[in-house]
Amino acid sequence: MTEKLFDDGMLFSFSAVVTQCNETQNGFEAVLDRSAFFPEGGGQAGDVGTLGGVEVIDTYEKNGEVVHLCKSPLEVGAEVRGNIDENIRIRRMQNHSGEHLLMGFIHNKLGYENVGFHMGSEEVLLDLNGVISPEDIRECEQRANEAIARNIPITISYPDSGTLAALEYRSKLEMTENVRIVTIEGIDNCACCAPHMPTTGGIGIVKVISSESNRGGTRLHILSGLDALDLIRKRMESNAAISHLLSAKPEKTADAVEKLLNENIALKRQITENERHAAEEIISGLKNDSRKSFCIFTRGLGRNTMREIANQAVKLTDGLAAVFSEEQGGFGYIIASEKLPLRTMARDINSALGGKGGGSDLMIQGSLTAKRGEIEEYFSGLDK
Ligand SMILES: [Zn+2]
Repeated sequence: MTEKLFDDGMLFSFSAVVTQCNETQNGFEAVLDRSAFFPEGGGQAGDVGTLGGVEVIDTYEKNGEVVHLCKSPLEVGAEVRGNIDENIRIRRMQNHSGEHLLMGFIHNKLGYENVGFHMGSEEVLLDLNGVISPEDIRECEQRANEAIARNIPITISYPDSGTLAALEYRSKLEMTENVRIVTIEGIDNCACCAPHMPTTGGIGIVKVISSESNRGGTRLHILSGLDALDLIRKRMESNAAISHLLSAKPEKTADAVEKLLNENIALKRQITENERHAAEEIISGLKNDSRKSFCIFTRGLGRNTMREIANQAVKLTDGLAAVFSEEQGGFGYIIASEKLPLRTMARDINSALGGKGGGSDLMIQGSLTAKRGEIEEYFSGLDK
């Protein structure tokens, strides 16, 4: 069986002898006599790196052996140098150790367990089997980061069955032997198989990004270390852009956006008011003439206002009440009629005036590319 070297989380380079190498569909599965590569487990993905210069794209466990999935074959019996991709491994260890640390404080304060854990580079999900308040999240996050500042050792041990039975630890297992305990001194004991940072200082920062209700408990989105820095940088850049656009101090962007939204609401209200006045003016200017269709040209009016004008105008005629609004590339139209088969007429109107649209016999709407003169001529022709 492979001798596992990853109890020392900071061992990124080692030498070993290749004991097996088998070709599979996905690549070459190499087994070594010893390895610091971590095979996927405990929510942490398998390591990547190189073995004898050959790329290792994944590491997993198979029949008790650590299997390195390589892009090319390795010679059985050869001594190879293994190099783990340090950047990826450190980020994973930071996220994983940050989760232990934060979870330690949550468990000690509220007694909750971690009942779900997913670790990606942009998102780490931590599911709690209880509801945690924003105040408690803040307090535990604060205490976890203070523990980072104190640079407390994180140690690995394999207690004997007697010691284990007496030990308080999270993820309590039925097993009594070879249980790997990850200890953050004075804060947390947890059974876990993955490599961790050697001290809390290496975590750098642990940040709760957001939280949500989840199956009667709470799901926390957290990030630690360099991944947290990447996210914080991204969000700060976005906030800086908003700050620049609104000429507001970075810590005052929410106030500035709120002000902008309120101005926007007031402007929309003003536009609606203006449109209502314009519509009233147009409607009051219409002459009751049942023989003649209405062809009303407007500018800058919304569809709702155009519809309102058409609805009022159609009461004054046996023909059509057509309302047009100038827009890019032509006119938008809404046409109403109480007597004419508008749905059928829509086809002729669209084909004569380069348009599209449709609707019911009572009202059709769409757009036309024809010029105003052509439209007026077409509709006056309908009344003859
Ligand atoms: Zn762990």
